Amino acid sequence: MKTINNLDFKGKKAIIRVDFNVPLDENFNVTDATRIEAAKPTIDKILNDGGSVILMSHLGRPKGKEEKYSIKHIIAKVSEVLGREILFAEDCIGSDAHSKASNLQPNQVLLLENLRFHSEEEAGDSDFAKKLASLGDVFVNDAFGTAHRAHASTTIIANFFPNDKFFGLLLAKEIESINKVLKDSQKPVTAILGGSKVSSKITIIENILDKVDHMIIGGGMTFTFIKALGGSIGDSICEDDKLELALEILKQAKEKGVQIHIPVDVIAADAFSNDANTQIIDVTKIPDGWQGLDAGPKSLEIFEEVILKSKTILWNGPVGVFEMPSFANGTIKVGEYIAAATKNGAFSLVGGGDSVSAVKQFGFEDQVSYVSTGGGAMLEMLEGKTLPGIQAIIQ
Ligand code: AMP
Repeated sequence: MKTINNLDFKGKKAIIRVDFNVPLDENFNVTDATRIEAAKPTIDKILNDGGSVILMSHLGRPKGKEEKYSIKHIIAKVSEVLGREILFAEDCIGSDAHSKASNLQPNQVLLLENLRFHSEEEAGDSDFAKKLASLGDVFVNDAFGTAHRAHASTTIIANFFPNDKFFGLLLAKEIESINKVLKDSQKPVTAILGGSKVSSKITIIENILDKVDHMIIGGGMTFTFIKALGGSIGDSICEDDKLELALEILKQAKEKGVQIHIPVDVIAADAFSNDANTQIIDVTKIPDGWQGLDAGPKSLEIFEEVILKSKTILWNGPVGVFEMPSFANGTIKVGEYIAAATKNGAFSLVGGGDSVSAVKQFGFEDQVSYVSTGGGAMLEMLEGKTLPGIQAIIQ
């Protein structure tokens, strides 16, 4: 993998695709700077070598040029995180960007206006990519969150740097972490898949059945499996058109020697509400009027045993409705088991929007090996797809 560590950037101008698509409050203050902080090691390495840096990103989903999506709102935060003054170009292409990029001195940072103010960005327009490319001597992609998109700044631009394109440190770490689970994994490998629907996880399940020894299925998906197996699930969430698929997954798992662990008991509630009445009940005997909203104690014992003996762990999706405190226990416990396994030497990767928020909310972020920054991109890699932004650097 050609990363920025393979080059001395002294005297070079690096144009870096970063993912600074950060959340802003109503006064345009950055409420979570994680993505900016995540790009800092790459930026620092290039500046410390004596290079200069041109940063390009999208922010939100503007339709044309919309003031509220201007990157200028984040200048102060980027400057604070990097610990230095930064320059800003009011358009990502054109004369202002060009003259500021041409005059950029070693150790200086130039931030470009929102790429998505031009529809050519998402269209993957080659002329637009060429204009961006003309600003730098070297292209660096450090935006994992958009690596699954063949946009001008994430993929097409690489065509203009046949020998001068590199993975940034963040993107390299993401790829390495996913490969540690999918390719060079230490056994036993366990995938914990939760969330609400089988349909949104099916491609992942099918792809990783070849790569894991254990699969824990939790959350709302549980009930499609239990119903398919003939259990009574009451009013629990279920995809009736996926019952056959659930049985097919179980059959495939058996053929491939993968042990599947589905909850045996659940916390059932008489309403989808934090204040509902609850009972712990056998997952196959949920009465009408009740729905399973979290994994029960016996299930958690099974999960604990499996997770603690694993050497490689992937977690995608909560095992209960963790947004409601009454049904967060299962997800917290799974986080604790993964943290304990990690402490004992396992490699653990957490990815996909909701499990990442759960891990952050319950304070496990520093107790797992790696928390992925890219939701959709991570899921597509788990599905076995080659991401265009990654392919463009490798080619
Ligand atoms: P997903 O986006 O598919 O990963 O699903 C995440 C969502 O699944 C979270 O918002 C959880 O609240 C929800 N979820 C987890 N367990 C259940 C359950 N037993 N019933 C309904 N929703 C659930």
